[in-house]
Amino acid sequence: MSELELRNIVKNFGAVEVIRDVSLSVNDGEFIAFVGPSGCGKSTLLRLIAGLDKPTGGSIAIDGKDVTEIGAADRGLAMVFQSYALYPHMSVRENLAFGLENTKVPKAEIEARIADAARMLEIVPFLQRRPGQLSGGQRQRVAIGRAIVRRPDAFLLDEPLSNLDAELRVTMRAELAALHARLQATMIYVTHDQVEAMTLADRIVVLRSGRIEQIGTPLELYNKPANRFVAGFIGAPH
Ligand code: ADP
Ligand code: MG
Repeated sequence: MSELELRNIVKNFGAVEVIRDVSLSVNDGEFIAFVGPSGCGKSTLLRLIAGLDKPTGGSIAIDGKDVTEIGAADRGLAMVFQSYALYPHMSVRENLAFGLENTKVPKAEIEARIADAARMLEIVPFLQRRPGQLSGGQRQRVAIGRAIVRRPDAFLLDEPLSNLDAELRVTMRAELAALHARLQATMIYVTHDQVEAMTLADRIVVLRSGRIEQIGTPLELYNKPANRFVAGFIGAPH
């Protein structure tokens, strides 16, 4: 059974059709990248999957269960935003714990998860600092850590590296690959950087004006682009 199933998803903002009949199956543990030019609907599609927005048409199922009417908190997913979205007045530790403290997760378990994520992301020395006292890369690690401690079935990442400088992006790319290997969790990764998509993803979804142009492995897209748009975007010869 596929972990995530989008069926004929449509999203309109007013009279504007932003997502047009998108259908897609994502397998358990798969690393999927959504790529396409600015404004093609990548973030909108991710927000629909997250449950932060409702589709105008179509349905979304997770593990075979229809979640189209279910809110973000109950979908078992965790989103990482481009802007980090950390609470500036809280310490890193408090940022990691926030939202877990009023759940059924016992306090000792929360502490263990924070310690584990902090070790994995090498942010142990910064746990008592506030986000303002961290570098961009450290903040991004905290944002990823906040998703990890939730133990989600799937991670939704919206251009998580695009605010970092080129050198750090390369480092963080390798760290994301290692994280995916270690957690074995499904990752849905939005980027406009084709190199990121080609190196990280099991499959790439190429979007254009709210439609899927092609879905395939990096090699398939490179060797057999469906059209000039895909070829141009992927950087394949055409
Ligand atoms: P991407 O992430 O690929 O750059 P988005 O999903 O952010 O693209 O946006 C797709 C289109 O939807 C854009 O034309 C954008 O202006 C429009 N859009 C996104 N969110 C809203 C909204 N809340 N209200 C109106 N239009 C929106
Ligand atoms: Mg976007």
